Amino acid sequence: MAFLEIRNLEKSFGKVSVLKGIDLEIDKGGFLVLVGPSGCGKSTLLNSIAGLETITGGSISIDGRGIDGLHPSKRDIAMVFQSYALYPNMTVAQNIAFGMEIRGVPKAVRDKAIGQVSDMLQIGHLLDRRPSQLSGGQRQRVAIGRALVRDPKLFLFDEPLSNLDAKLRVDMRTEIKRLHQRMGTTIVYVTHDQIEAMTLATKIAVLKDGLLQQSGTPAEIYNNPANTFVADFMGSPA
Ligand code: ADP
Ligand code: MG
Repeated sequence: MAFLEIRNLEKSFGKVSVLKGIDLEIDKGGFLVLVGPSGCGKSTLLNSIAGLETITGGSISIDGRGIDGLHPSKRDIAMVFQSYALYPNMTVAQNIAFGMEIRGVPKAVRDKAIGQVSDMLQIGHLLDRRPSQLSGGQRQRVAIGRALVRDPKLFLFDEPLSNLDAKLRVDMRTEIKRLHQRMGTTIVYVTHDQIEAMTLATKIAVLKDGLLQQSGTPAEIYNNPANTFVADFMGSPA
C-alpha cells in the first residue's frame, strides 16, 4: 500500500468543479511533483491533503489511515507556501521554534533542532534577525526550516521557489533535493516549472482542468507522454 493514497478525489466550489476525480499515490520517501498550468487545481489538491479545503468526494489516506475529517493540526503534515508566511515580529530562531514551543518541547531540544536545521539550510548567522531583514531566498530557507523541525510525516510545498530570482531558484532546487535525499522524507511539491519537476521528482503527475493527464517517473513522462498536452507541457521531443 502506498504511503499517500488519493482516491477519486473531487472538489467543487459551489457549482464549479475544480478537481474531477483524481487518483494518485506516492510511496514513503518519494518526491511527487504536481505540474500543470495555472488554475488547473494544483493548490486545491495540496490544500485538500493538508485539510485546508474540505473535499466534496473521494478519499485521502496517509499510512493506511483515512484523514478526511481530521483537523489540519492532527494530520502531521507541514506545508511551505509561495509566500513565506513568517511571523514578522519574531526573530528567525523564534519563527523556527514557534511550533515546537506551542507543543511544549523543552528549550534544550528546541535549541538543538534550531541548530541542526540552520546548519543544514545555512541560516545559522541569521537567527537573531527579523524577516524584514532577510532576502527572499533567506526567508524561504527559514520557512523550510520551520517545516523541517516539525519532522512531519508528509511535506507539502506549493510553488516555494516562484518568488525567487532564477539563480536562487536553481540553488534552492539543489538544496531541496539534497534535503530530501538526506532525510528520506515524503514530499508532494507543486510547481508550474517543468525543469524543476524533472530534476526534483521521483514521480510526476500532470494535471489539466482538474483531471490527471498522466503520472509516472520523469523519464516516462518526458519520453512517453500520454497525449499532446503532456508532450507540449513537458517539452518532450516530437
Ligand atoms: P493552481 O494552483 O493550479 O493554479 P488552484 O487550485 O488555485 O489552481 O485553482 C483551481 C481553480 O479553482 C481555479 O479556477 C480557481 O479560480 C478555483 N478556486 C480556487 N479556490 C477557490 C475558492 N476558494 N473559491 C472558488 N474558486 C476557487
Ligand atoms: Mg496554485
